[in-house]
Amino acid sequence: MDHNEIVRQAQDAGVQLVSFLYCDNGGIIRGKTGHVSGLAGRLEAGIGLTLAMQAMSDMDQLQIVDGMGPVGEVRMIPDTDTFTILPYAPQRALMLADLITIARQPWAACPRDFLKRMLAQAKSAGLTIQAALEPEWYLARKEGDTYVPCDESLDNSTIGATISREVIDDLVLALETQGLHVEQYYPELGHGQQELSIRHAGALRAADNHILYRETVRNVAWQHGLYASFAPKPFPDQAGNGCHIHFSAWDMDGQQNLFFDPDDGQNLSTLAYQFIGGIMAHLPALVALTCPSMNSYRRLSPGSWSTAFTCYGPDNREAALRIPSRFWGEEMASTNLEFRPVDSSSNPYIALGGLLAAGLDGVARDLRPGAGQWIEVDPVRLTPEELAARDIRRLPTTLLESIHALEADTVLTDAMGPLLADSYLTIRRADWELFSQHDAEYEIKNHFYKY
Ligand code: GLU
Ligand code: MG
Repeated sequence: MDHNEIVRQAQDAGVQLVSFLYCDNGGIIRGKTGHVSGLAGRLEAGIGLTLAMQAMSDMDQLQIVDGMGPVGEVRMIPDTDTFTILPYAPQRALMLADLITIARQPWAACPRDFLKRMLAQAKSAGLTIQAALEPEWYLARKEGDTYVPCDESLDNSTIGATISREVIDDLVLALETQGLHVEQYYPELGHGQQELSIRHAGALRAADNHILYRETVRNVAWQHGLYASFAPKPFPDQAGNGCHIHFSAWDMDGQQNLFFDPDDGQNLSTLAYQFIGGIMAHLPALVALTCPSMNSYRRLSPGSWSTAFTCYGPDNREAALRIPSRFWGEEMASTNLEFRPVDSSSNPYIALGGLLAAGLDGVARDLRPGAGQWIEVDPVRLTPEELAARDIRRLPTTLLESIHALEADTVLTDAMGPLLADSYLTIRRADWELFSQHDAEYEIKNHFYKY
């Protein structure tokens, strides 16, 4: 949108404050806010941000990363397409920002630019990418120092829907007002757990939408006196919060879903199998990008539908890639892959960027999944020997294992580039070093209300 038009819309709506937001290496949404009177200038010049912010752990402990000390700044330059007046806070608006160097180049540690680079790579292969993130989260109250689920409702239960009706209805209205179209809602398995999905979009927009979504859910819940937790495992005895990524590759006109092939037994194209092959090959390392927090590994375990193995299968909710059954009458359009080992402690730009880097490597090297990795049963029902024979491997069981896998995966770290990869890995190591010294209670307390 044109800058003058943004200023005019903000003024007409009575907006006072406009925030420029980004998501950091720790998956935290951060930003700075300016008064509307200076908006015209800030749309051009951005707002300054110290380089050190990408070396800040999610406990706000500054880590040592070359080039990210007390000296130097980047500019948060807002993407004008993301200008959003906030329905839950009408005097405020926000925009999602790119991190740009003083020399006016994308900063090498900008997560949003990483996704843009991967999308450019897809484009040079003739592909546009559609994606939808499918977040789960809990509504909780705070009693003293303790978070307590807002209800004890059962999976898909109408009692859960009744108890949370006011907050959910406000949320749906707030999302729709921002152009995030609600697809489905239901009380999820855990007590107080919710799932409310929004429609797919181009991959950059889908990642942006996830930031808007997290902001909206947290704010609307807050207005109802509730805490919304996107932590991967906020309650150790309840279901985890996934944020599965559905994605598909289309032609440049967006007319033809290139993952669809009616002549294949599974209706999947060679391109889809190449993406699957790439993702299977990079999975252990990819998990460091999609399940990046200490708390992620409390979720990622067999038997919890969060997936724990390198395999794929038809509507298989224990497979890392689920091949969703198609919608009747919309077979081509609804063909997609669902990547399941992902949660909302990830940075959506880095998670999607990593997923594409893995998939595109599969295309470049014509990789295919192993025949044995197609699995139509729960992988825990296979013996260790059967799993090994099918080349089905356990995903990392700790943050440290995933860090090591990412360090060894030069396809992913090269795609990220050295500055993003180094700073990201440094933040992850800091998490491991801190939380591995503490118990589960400390870990959960310090993840519950971060995302
Ligand atoms: N809560 C599960 C997870 O951690 C997903 C449940 C579902 O299939 O929706 O990913
Ligand atoms: Mg779910």
